[in-house]
Formats: sequence, structure tokens, C-alpha cells
Amino acid sequence: MRRADNQRLPSMFGSNSRRISRPRCCGYFDVDRAKALPQLRKAAPVDGAADRRSEKVFPTDVRRRYEGGETEERRLFYVAMTRARDMLYLSRFQRKKNRFQPSTFLVDVAGSDPPIAKKLPLPEAFTPSPDEGQELPQLSFSELAHYQDCPMRYRLSDSLGFQPQLATELGYGKTIHHLLRRISDLAREKGKLPTAKQVEQLFDEEFYLPFANQPAFEQLSARATSLVDKYLADYRDDLMRIWETERPFALHLANGVVTGRADVILDREGDVVGNLALVDYKTAADPQADNVYAFQLAIYAAAGRGEGLNVRAAYLHSLKEGERTPVSVEDATTDQVKRRASTLITSLVSGDFPAAPEKKKCRCCDVRAVCQHALCGKKDL
Ligand code: SF4
Repeated sequence: MRRADNQRLPSMFGSNSRRISRPRCCGYFDVDRAKALPQLRKAAPVDGAADRRSEKVFPTDVRRRYEGGETEERRLFYVAMTRARDMLYLSRFQRKKNRFQPSTFLVDVAGSDPPIAKKLPLPEAFTPSPDEGQELPQLSFSELAHYQDCPMRYRLSDSLGFQPQLATELGYGKTIHHLLRRISDLAREKGKLPTAKQVEQLFDEEFYLPFANQPAFEQLSARATSLVDKYLADYRDDLMRIWETERPFALHLANGVVTGRADVILDREGDVVGNLALVDYKTAADPQADNVYAFQLAIYAAAGRGEGLNVRAAYLHSLKEGERTPVSVEDATTDQVKRRASTLITSLVSGDFPAAPEKKKCRCCDVRAVCQHALCGKKDL
């Protein structure tokens, strides 16, 4: 829906991506999220078979709790439409038109079943108000890394907010990081290494994968147990050297702030008390990602030094191979990464979001299903 239509209709669906230069203020928002019924209700404004199908999956007594009548639905739809700040898109199924009819709400809003637009108009580039313009943009390291990898990926996932597709493994890396942190906390609290039984109990209570079915859960749990066991067998002494876990950092640059958290900080690097070493855990074997981890560790080292911490070393720890690789955090390296981060921020804030498709990259990209530049086959979607 074009901007001029906003006079007639208070906008809906869609993004405030005009605010693209304010990384924390961007967002794609859809009506189903507004209604908090992502699975039960229609994914687009259509009537018909979707309701019949959801009836099979979610019986009436379960749905009743969430559903109102048409008046309620219309009101929710209106509320959702009035949430968008800059742009409103209405969508409906195209290829399934024999089974799906456009929603009466859509017809009411558009005056008839509207023709499908070939290309969606995007909002104009955002110009911050003079007050906002003085505030430095703040973004997480992962946002910066997404932008570096493919600016379009940053735009779709971090700025517009398209969610990754659900996968059984979703959360696997995070839950391993969580368990290692809990094991470290336990060692620090008690002043001694946790027993095998305590570690097992932590796994029982806190290993969590929200989207895995039982067989996948068991398989991933066994894999995680073997990674953690290997870590504890090879690097057990680390647990008594832990200075802090999940330590937040903020690197202040002239044109923005980069934030993040270091997995672990060890004390007594080189056997000297007060000499700190950053350690980042890597759960999957992906040599392509090593440069990103090295970039991240150097950013955190620069941020730590900015706070007065005596960061002397950094390591990338591959849990699968049980190998720890040193990463350069020399002053020359941290100066270089600061320059690189600054350049990326300048480009991001100026609203430059070209796609950088590559087969290998696109196949693993979280937003490949909604990216028109994706270089991957149907089976990868
Ligand atoms: S699918 Fe490829 S081109 Fe598209 S956003 Fe992802 S990495 Fe970039």
C-alpha cells in the first residue's frame, strides 16, 4: 500500500524500515504476531481452507480459548493495521486462488480484490530527527557480522525482523554455552571442580531444545554430552581460572557502539595473576566462520582494554575437535578491526544493503526463504 493511502487508512502490516539507520528501532511486524496466534490462524488475509485445516490440527475446544467472533477478529485486524509507522503491505495467497478467497477484510480495505503488485515499494530512507541524529547507533556484534557477511541478510533478519525457519537444532549452540557457563559457575561457587554426577544433573535439568522431537533431542543431547565431556577431560583446569563468564562488552567508536558478550574470560594467562585471556566456544566445525570469531574476539579485546582490563590473549575453542587456537589481539590487529567495524557502521547507517549472494553462504542463511537473491536450490529452502 502506497504512502498516499495512509491518509485514507492508518497503515498496517509491514515495516518501519525507513528507520534502517537506527539499528535498534527497526522492525517487521505481522498481523498474526499482533494476534499472538501464529499457528492457529491464517498466515495471510484469506478465507476458506486454512480454517478447515487448522480445525483438524487444533480442535475446537483448544481454539475456543483464543478465538473470538468476526467482530473480535475485525477489531484485532484493525489494531494490527494501525501499528505500522511507515509502511503497510497486505498479502494473500496467489497460486492457491481456487481454494482460498481473499479475506473480506482485505476486500473492505482495498475496495475489491486488489491486483497483486509485482514489486513491493520500500519505504524511503530514514532521516533521523536532529535530536536522534546525535545519538550514536548501537548494534550487537552478531548484527555487524551479518552485515559484513551480506548486507541484505542484515536488512532482512536484523532490521526487518524476518525470523529464521524453525529447525530441530535451533538453540543447540546456545544450550551448550549455557551448560558450560553453569559448570563454570558451579566451580567458582564451590571453589572446586564439579563431580561427574553434578554435571549429569545439570544436563538433566537444563539441556533444552525447544523444537526438537524426542529422537532428535536424544541424539543432540548425546552429542552435547560428548562435547562437554571432552572439554572437561582436556581443559578441566580452566574451570579454576575463570574470571568471568558471559561478560558484556561495548566497543565505543567515533560513529557507533558495538556490543557483545565473551563466553569466558580466564585469569592467570601465562601464570600471571591479572593477565586475562578471552575464550570463545565454537560448537560446529565451520572453518568459514573462524574469521568472524577472530573479528569478534579482537573487538572484545579492544573493548576490554578500553575499560582498563589487561587482556593479553584470546582463543577460539573448537569443542568438537577439542582444539584451542590462539587469535591475534595485538594492538595492530585491534586497531585494524576497529577501522573495519567503523567502515561497516558507516555503510550500514547510510542505508546501503546490497545482496552478496554465494551458494555456500545462501544455503545456510536464516532468511534464504524470503530473499529474492538467494543462490540455493528448492531443497535448501
Ligand atoms: S540468501 Fe544469500 S543473498 Fe540472500 S540474504 Fe541470505 S546470504 Fe544474502
